[in-house]
Amino acid sequence: MKEGNKKQGAASPCAACKLLRRRCAQDCVFAPYFPADEPHKFANVHKVFGASNVNKMLQVLNSL
Ligand SMILES: [Zn+2]
Repeated sequence: MKEGNKKQGAASPCAACKLLRRRCAQDCVFAPYFPADEPHKFANVHKVFGASNVNKMLQVLNSL
């Protein structure tokens, strides 16, 4: 599989949105932490903490 476009956007959702099958918004909280080219990172975190907990954690981080 060839990856020409590494930019975040509608065409390539971040690893989190890809795994959760949701739309990756421009201001997606996951995108800075889980880029599309490192899907294993979110897969591991998701396995340990669960999606909703990760979401909560990142919202706290972003509000600091
Ligand atoms: Zn995303």
